[in-house]
Amino acid sequence: MYDYDLFTIGGGSGGVRASRMAAQFGAKVALAEERYLGGTCVNVGCIPKKLLVYASEFSDLFDDSAGFGWTIGERSFNWQTLIANKDLEIARLNGIYEKVLTDNGARIVRARATIADAHTVVVGSERYTARYILVATGGWPSTPSIPGGELAITSNEAFFLPQFPSRVIIVGGGYIGLEFAGIFHGLGAKVSLVHRGELFLRGFDEDVRRAVAAEMGRREIDLRFNRQVARIEKLPHGIRATFDDGSALEADLIMFATGRTPNTHNLGLEKAGVKLDYEGAVVVDAYSCSSVPNIYAVGDCTNRMQLTPVAIAEGQAVAETLFHGNPQTPDYKNVPTAVFSEPRIGTVGFTEAEARERYGAVDVYKASFRPLKNTVSGRDEHSFMKLVVDRETDRVVGCHMVGTDAGEIIQGLAIALRCGATKAQFDATIGIHPTAAEEFVTMRNKS
Ligand SMILES: Cc1cc2nc3c(=O)[nH]c(=O)nc-3n(C[C@H](O)[C@H](O)[C@H](O)COP(=O)(O)OP(=O)(O)OC[C@H]3O[C@@H](n4cnc5c(N)ncnc54)[C@H](O)[C@@H]3O)c2cc1C
Repeated sequence: MYDYDLFTIGGGSGGVRASRMAAQFGAKVALAEERYLGGTCVNVGCIPKKLLVYASEFSDLFDDSAGFGWTIGERSFNWQTLIANKDLEIARLNGIYEKVLTDNGARIVRARATIADAHTVVVGSERYTARYILVATGGWPSTPSIPGGELAITSNEAFFLPQFPSRVIIVGGGYIGLEFAGIFHGLGAKVSLVHRGELFLRGFDEDVRRAVAAEMGRREIDLRFNRQVARIEKLPHGIRATFDDGSALEADLIMFATGRTPNTHNLGLEKAGVKLDYEGAVVVDAYSCSSVPNIYAVGDCTNRMQLTPVAIAEGQAVAETLFHGNPQTPDYKNVPTAVFSEPRIGTVGFTEAEARERYGAVDVYKASFRPLKNTVSGRDEHSFMKLVVDRETDRVVGCHMVGTDAGEIIQGLAIALRCGATKAQFDATIGIHPTAAEEFVTMRNKS
């Protein structure tokens, strides 16, 4: 009756997972992708960002090596080499995403798709009918509209800059802003980070926010809170940003990291009867079903948790529900996250403030210490760890870390939280010595 069982719009983390699994379960699947297979994560998100983070770490390693007896010759950094090598790896990943779809029998349509009605997708002059339509169109950077705003870039362009800038202004206090501040700083730029609030990283634990601000300040990243960019002008050599308090800064590059909005404009969703919220996100139920019973939506276009593993879990659940007789809803509890800033952040569970509101009485354990490596390297940087415990049940309900390998460490602790581990069980676990992670099982004093 229909051309396809499933037509997916968007070949990013969520769309590819749902399409590939649906095809594996025997469905006839097509997927339209207008830009790049793998979506944001593979092309202008997690993966290229982490490669740039790796590149930026070397300056610290070179500095730290002196205390361990090394003499490093003259250093130089070539941005074009980094970007070319990054592009090669991304091209390889694009190929893997294509193969994973076609090997499972899904058809790829490389063009923009829109929805004509509940069962019809339009691509150019072609019309395809489908029993189910999956909207997986992701998000897009949102930028303030100010005079000269077009002179600023977003994270999309940062991955393809022709020249490395020596002075950078980052606007925005979310994780993407902090990560790019760390990348540009580590690669040798003078970086200013401007945020309209009192402190960046809204939603993160207060102690974590303060610890990161202190360490970034120590690294001489110029932090400017409580101000917004009012206008940007082009100068003969660079640009000038003027803030709402009248102050100004000159730089070679200004990057807006001021949030992302669901990519749902002009898709035909409203016409097909799909409800969108005030930010344009597709409104879905726990099964990712929209207000039209055969149109589903997953990932950033639904604005639930803008993370790749979450989009993948949602895509997987849709395929299980529709084509495997196994109705599934993703579990959003205890989703761990990392920020690859300088220093790193890893977090899972509730912040102290959230836990107090939810449980009333909570116990808090904190540790701030100079990591062993820094004693010999001389680096003046501390790591911070925090456990939040529900006093009534003794369950650990929040783990937070600022410091080297925070993301790697917190991933393991996320399993413990998911299993409902108590503080007594943390304490009974023998540590691995000497590591920073062992601090999580040796914190005995309540703060
Ligand atoms: C700089 C940056 C760093 C990030 N770092 C991390 C990280 O470290 N960890 C993490 O978990 N998450 C990270 N994220 C978030 C992560 O990338 C997203 O949560 C994830 O990619 C969402 O997947 P998705 O499938 O919803 O959408 P996307 O991956 O955005 O894919 C949507 C796809 O749909 C296509 N599309 C849109 N409209 C149409 C149309 N009409 N027709 C055809 N195709 C269309 C787009 O071209 C795109 O390829 C980062 C994001 C950014 C921007």
